[in-house]
Amino acid sequence: VRMRHILLITTGGTIACRDSGHGLAPALTAEDLLAAVPSVTRVCEVTTRPLFNLDSTDMTPKEWLAVAAAIRDAYDSFDGFVITHGTDTLAYAAATLSCLLQHSEKPIVLTGAQLPLGVPGSDAAENLKDAFAWALSEGARGVRIVFAGRVIRGLRARKRHTTDPDAFESVGCPDTALIHDGQIIRYGVSVGEGQGSVTDSPLMPPHEFFEDLDTRIALAHLTPGMSPYVLRHMVEGLHGLIVEGVGIGGIPDTLVPVLTRIAESGVYLILTSQVPYGESDFTVYRAGRRIHEACGGQVVTARDIPSEAAFAAAMWAMAVSRDREARGEDPLKLCLFANATELYCPITETLGIVDALAGLNATGADYIYLEERRIMLHHIIGSVSAGEDTAIFAGMKGTQWADMA
Ligand code: ASP
Repeated sequence: VRMRHILLITTGGTIACRDSGHGLAPALTAEDLLAAVPSVTRVCEVTTRPLFNLDSTDMTPKEWLAVAAAIRDAYDSFDGFVITHGTDTLAYAAATLSCLLQHSEKPIVLTGAQLPLGVPGSDAAENLKDAFAWALSEGARGVRIVFAGRVIRGLRARKRHTTDPDAFESVGCPDTALIHDGQIIRYGVSVGEGQGSVTDSPLMPPHEFFEDLDTRIALAHLTPGMSPYVLRHMVEGLHGLIVEGVGIGGIPDTLVPVLTRIAESGVYLILTSQVPYGESDFTVYRAGRRIHEACGGQVVTARDIPSEAAFAAAMWAMAVSRDREARGEDPLKLCLFANATELYCPITETLGIVDALAGLNATGADYIYLEERRIMLHHIIGSVSAGEDTAIFAGMKGTQWADMA
């Protein structure tokens, strides 16, 4: 059998750091990294593509567009992609790549380390090995972070600890899988294990790659007593503003007029919560509903996706909507899809659920909402109620991302 061929893209980060005399700085080459995991090159062929050697503090959407372009250009020649990246902006990177490289049939795996390769107690080699193990595993697809034995969806990741090796978590949705001693334990229904290929599913769209991001997006973390002027100045020249409200969905009364004016001026408002877990819903309290009443349909809610992902989705959605707008289509709708993009993934990756949907005649409009070849999961969850299928969905209902009815 042909050995699988993986493209290793390196961008820097702690994993590649050495003491520069002025603090840690990326210095190792892609070959240095690969030499530390000889077990990997015994089981697959690896081509290296060093793109950057940056502390990820200095990675920007421009660099992520270059990573996406490298994957796009090489997509047909490789079976999977492993990207090493600093951890500090890794969640942003993963979310951005998830938006740029949608529905990838091949695994696009990001990893890094909390301690440089070769330093006693470093997690670098283990994370790198795990990233390759996942990239080589049956049914792996889409953008994932593999870190400390966790496989996390690109639009769900958040860095949760500055020093602990278990630095990332999946927000609002379970880990895709765990990796222990090279063994992969998939969460829930496994993919591709005696169930045919996931790409057999009629619901599975082909990959769709995008080449543009709108970086005129900012994130505003609302604080008690915040001056409206801060927001007014902040939005100058922006196309979209992620507004992190308080609790499940609260916007201080003093900020509603300025946010309304901002929305009226054509800036899209994407509402989310500064609380790390749980869905945001700005219709529960009057203190949140005011923004909807004032702005009408000009706001969307990021629900339970992390702010990093809301930010990436906004960059993607705004870029695509410029196109759409030019063609006379509704850009706000697209922003809603930014919300739904990741929600699509769990369905397609979990064949059992796809089967269950087929059994439920889920192609009916009540169950799934298909547009732009994406499915809004909350419609499905809201409608499924009977028999064995409930069991499948009940398991998911316990998690935030399934609780979108
Ligand atoms: N400052 C580093 C970076 O993000 C931290 C790391 O990689 O763990 O590049």
